[in-house]
Amino acid sequence: MTNREARSVLVTGASRGIGLSIARTFAEAGDNVAGTYRTTAPQEKFLSVRCDVTSESDVDRAFTEAEAAHGLVEVLVASAGITHDQPLMRMTREDFTSVLDTNLTGAFSAAQRAIRGMQRKRSGRIILISSAVAMRGERWQSSYAASKAGLVGFARSLAREVGPRGITVNVVAPGLTRTDMSEALTQEQRDQLIQHIPSGRLAEPQEIADVVYFVADQPYINGAVIPVDGGAGMGH
Ligand code: NDP
Repeated sequence: MTNREARSVLVTGASRGIGLSIARTFAEAGDNVAGTYRTTAPQEKFLSVRCDVTSESDVDRAFTEAEAAHGLVEVLVASAGITHDQPLMRMTREDFTSVLDTNLTGAFSAAQRAIRGMQRKRSGRIILISSAVAMRGERWQSSYAASKAGLVGFARSLAREVGPRGITVNVVAPGLTRTDMSEALTQEQRDQLIQHIPSGRLAEPQEIADVVYFVADQPYINGAVIPVDGGAGMGH
């Protein structure tokens, strides 16, 4: 618990994994948190709001519910994301666009909706969860890497656009993290990826959440891409 006033925080993809850890971290620090879920509301000490980020009306409704409970959203963390790993030659156009729709267009919808209120307040923090894969690339992850690299250009352009109004837009780029997403890989794939991590292990979701929380406190970090990847993305 800190001494400053509680902020209105909205975290997408807060039902599990990294998003859940982020929502818990803000809530435990005393902020007023709305965390989104798609199907099953997590039983947590923050407000759960239903939202599929591929639906603009869902995103709008989630913000309206969060604002009714906590006031205009001051911190947005866009963490909802999916993978659909496969070789390019097997990938359909729908496979590709479904990943882009969730990871990139979903973040666009949330950021656009958040900025409406942030412009009125002339302050705000937007943090987009990208990935080390955005910069490095990874076999069979062309759709995922494209979506996550897209977030970097999106965030940096937006930082230039809304920076003068007191709003910062940053990207946190985790490496392989212990969640359902990484559990979906085979042990062999995980072992292979770990070989390229100087720290020699996966990240814990809390390690990503701690950095997101830190960035949300910083008024002068803007347009940054912050790796939290045990060194896996060094040089990229
Ligand atoms: P999980 O698979 O554990 O959780 C994904 C979360 O995103 C769930 O809350 C899920 O909701 C939500 N979600 C997925 N699609 C949608 C949608 N259309 N609308 C709303 N919510 C949706 O993933 P992680 O916690 O591992 O990943 C969180 C973020 O971190 C993602 O953006 C991911 O790309 C990124 N990341 C993860 C890494 C890792 O190794 N785990 C590494 C680098 C980045 P539901 O429960 O309803 O399905």
